[in-house]
This record gives sequence, C-alpha cells and structure tokens, in this order.
Amino acid sequence: MFKQHVKSLLLLELLKGLRLTGRYLFAKKFTVQYPEEKTPMSPRFRGQHALRRYDNGEERCIACKLCEAVCPALAITIEAAERADGTRRTTRYDIDLYKCIFCGFCEEACPVDAIVETRHFEYHGEQAGDLLMTKEKLLALGDKLSDEISRDRASDAPYR
Ligand code: SF4
Ligand code: SF4
Repeated sequence: MFKQHVKSLLLLELLKGLRLTGRYLFAKKFTVQYPEEKTPMSPRFRGQHALRRYDNGEERCIACKLCEAVCPALAITIEAAERADGTRRTTRYDIDLYKCIFCGFCEEACPVDAIVETRHFEYHGEQAGDLLMTKEKLLALGDKLSDEISRDRASDAPYR
C-alpha cells in the first residue's frame, strides 16, 4: 500500500507511459497514408470479379455452371443457350456482390479461366443494384484489365 502511494506521488506510471510514447515517436512508422500510399498487393488478390476473353475476342466462359454450383453464397446466377454455331454460351451471368464473400471458389472451379477476381477493389455502389455485376459489366472489366489479369495468372507467386 505504502509502495503504491510512493509510486503515485512520484508519477512513476505516468513516466513509464511517456517513455513508451517517446520510444514509438521516433521508431519506424507502419501506418500507410492511403490512398496516396498503397500496400504491396499479391497477384492472387481477390477483388472485383471479371470475365475474360481469348485473344481473338471470343468469351472464355462455356456456361458449364461450375462456378454457380460451387458458390457458397449463392451469389452467381447463370442462364445459358446454344448459339447458331453450336457452341454453348451464357445469356445471363450475374454476380451479386451484396452476397459475395470473395472466397475465390468460383475462379478455382472454372475450367477455362474465365471468371477471375482482379486486383480492383476501389469501387462502391450508390444506387440499389450498382453492385449487381451483370455479364456486360464483368466482360467490360475483363477487357479493361486484361493485361494485368494475364500477368497475374502467369505469376507463380505463393498464395498470401
Ligand atoms: S468469390 Fe466466392 S462467394 Fe463470391 S461469387 Fe465467387 S464463389 Fe461466390
Ligand atoms: S465462368 Fe467458368 S465455371 Fe463459370 S460457367 Fe463459365 S466456364 Fe463454367
């Protein structure tokens, strides 16, 4: 008890706290000043989804629906039909980002590397439905980021 009173009187706890503050004041800073500064990003980052095409412009997706079946959040809705040339393609491919948990199962399941999760993560929705990714939106993002996606898919960086 007496010891406690002496400690309080001499403000020892306060000085201990200030010593700790002083140590971190001049130490290397770990805070990143986002958005001016960015942290390193893995090529396997799981951001917004995109649908890819082959180099000749043909859609990769063959409407096998494996991604839809594997999705644990039931976020993917696909409808498909046969085209005039006899190939099967989607007539509807929606991903509901309100439901998606960004687990990456859809891209893992895809046999033709069509649906991928990109590095793009800076997006938002203002109206109801803005975060419902339609086939057109998914293909547009795939076209826009196609070089980056190809580089990332070719990378053998470990899963981080
Ligand atoms: S990332 Fe996971 S939750 Fe999101 S659409 Fe793909 S499988 Fe479904
Ligand atoms: S994105 Fe891939 S897994 Fe999903 S329907 Fe198309 S081909 Fe099949």
